[in-house]
Amino acid sequence: MKYPPPVKKFPHILHGGDYNPEQWLKWKDKIWKEDMRLAKLAGINTLSVGIFSWTALEPEEGQYRFEWLDEVMDLLAENGMTAVLATPSGARPAWMSRKYPEVLRVNASRQRNIHGDRHNHCLSSPVYREKTSAINSLLARRYRDHRALGVWHISNEYSGDCHCPLCQAKFRQYLKDKYKTLDALNEAWWSAFWSGTITDWDQIESPGGPGSGGHNGIKLDWRRFTTEQFVDFYLNETAPLKKITPETPCTTNLMTAGFSGIDYFRFAEVLDLVSWDSYPRWTSAEGNAEVGLRTSYAHDLTRSLKRRPFMLMESCPSATNWRAVAKLHRPGLHMLQSIQALAHGADSVQYFQFRKSRGGPEQHHGAVVDHEGSENTRVFRDVAELGQRLKSLDALVGADTPARAALMYDYQVRWALDDAKGFLQENTGYEETVINHYRPFWKRGIPLDLIDSRQSLDKYSLVIAPMLYMLREGAADRISAFVRRGGLLVSTYATGYVNESTLAFLGGFPGPLKETLGIWCEEIDALFPGETNSIEWNGKSYRAFDLCELIHGRGAEILGSYGGDFYAGSPALTVNNYGQGKAYYIAARTDGDFLDDFYRKIGAEAGLTPLFDDLPEGVSAQVRGGDEKYFVFLMNFTNREQQVSGQPALAPFEARIIERSSL
Ligand SMILES: [Zn+2]
Repeated sequence: MKYPPPVKKFPHILHGGDYNPEQWLKWKDKIWKEDMRLAKLAGINTLSVGIFSWTALEPEEGQYRFEWLDEVMDLLAENGMTAVLATPSGARPAWMSRKYPEVLRVNASRQRNIHGDRHNHCLSSPVYREKTSAINSLLARRYRDHRALGVWHISNEYSGDCHCPLCQAKFRQYLKDKYKTLDALNEAWWSAFWSGTITDWDQIESPGGPGSGGHNGIKLDWRRFTTEQFVDFYLNETAPLKKITPETPCTTNLMTAGFSGIDYFRFAEVLDLVSWDSYPRWTSAEGNAEVGLRTSYAHDLTRSLKRRPFMLMESCPSATNWRAVAKLHRPGLHMLQSIQALAHGADSVQYFQFRKSRGGPEQHHGAVVDHEGSENTRVFRDVAELGQRLKSLDALVGADTPARAALMYDYQVRWALDDAKGFLQENTGYEETVINHYRPFWKRGIPLDLIDSRQSLDKYSLVIAPMLYMLREGAADRISAFVRRGGLLVSTYATGYVNESTLAFLGGFPGPLKETLGIWCEEIDALFPGETNSIEWNGKSYRAFDLCELIHGRGAEILGSYGGDFYAGSPALTVNNYGQGKAYYIAARTDGDFLDDFYRKIGAEAGLTPLFDDLPEGVSAQVRGGDEKYFVFLMNFTNREQQVSGQPALAPFEARIIERSSL
């Protein structure tokens, strides 16, 4: 399966990054020309322009200055580059905040922000929507036929929420549309608890401020509403672009690693392309394997949002200034992190930033061109070396990832767990658990998709759904149908406790998955930090910690049992034959050896073949392609030479690409 390239008629891996020529307007004759020379020298074929440029484009209300951008777009076209052209809504001009204070966001304590920071606009403000729509229309009309126009970059890193009266009113409307009656809302929120019953829609207040209630139902609905606000704001921004430039795809740069404020699976439904900003926290020489694994996880999650190739919209060629310790990339790491993104489905390698800004909050953030200004830097040479290599990789553009196993990570399940009072309140460890289940596959070179609980399971032979605490509408049916027709399911503790409204399932956990899993969970024990129990399985004893469920077999076969405490000897690992398939249940939190051994067995049962027989620790293998043309990536995240069977030795931090006609 091949997907079209991000920029149609430009079938190359995009290489480039954020470029802010408006910061150098006074020096444009010297700097802009030099930038073009340097970009070509570095093998750069795309630059992202217009991000945060609103004041440069509209210095006073209704007075537009597009001439500088015309010149930049012409320069890009003349130099064979394509433009990722941004809409400027990521930061407003000061005149707008002054004249229309409603555009400024209000925090949970009901205080309105002052002007100054980026990203703090209200998501409902009719004025802000009108202003963004107007400037986006002008941009689209002006550059619709420009040969540099490649991709629209909408705003920047959408995040946060707004609690102003306009947003409150929209929240109430959202709830009216959803529940229709107050009776239905009160039941979903279980509002009789603490006298929380709502008797008039106007009594509803967004959660989070001082003295705000603790009802999980309203918190979850607020997060869902906020995601819908971003979807709606994005659609308002893209409406004129879709009308005027229907052929140009729209994307917005997500923050897949570490940000959970928006349900990105829902947001991705309205994006033409997914793109994201990746800033791995590389260490010195040791310890990069774990950073590599977590970065792979975030790339896989990004690709899985639409289950097709994505753009790496930002990455750093050197030190990331906003990290507590802004460490330089060790030699080789720039090439490795860039090829790693391609390995997991990226069709671009882009940076923040091309030329280092002379002042401002990110003046010390790594860039292709440093303050020194020439091509004679280590970082520039690293970028140019990559640029040269990317020119030989056109065949990779659009290649699919042939994953036959899926691991579930669901933003809404995470929210429900975060708000649940019980188990481990300070940190439920949900995403960390998902990453722990990801690790054995990464270590062995078996590709995985990361999906949420609403996705189709048709293409998979194995589905892993850790801590599926909340069963969203239809999820239990989809999962059960998948097992019934021959799929292999792995489920864990803390599954099937609540429905989509966070109301507990009555009649025993794991709720509607009881029959599929063939168990009943009676209680769950939380362990203090440092406390452990064990799972006895296959003649070995494995560490169990944090959460241990007390379960009973209800048709499932008992494979392993607890080694300690008052529930020693009771079931801890089960498998249930259901229809044509099997459903495994791991009743306690485990890691390391257990998950390695367990998934070695399960992977074989599901017919998943590792790309290499035995990968050394810290070496990862990934694949893209199909139809007898596969690109296999071998990546060494250690600072030592490594040996993989049938391959020449891998140098420290080497990223190798091998073409194969079959897997
Ligand atoms: Zn607002």
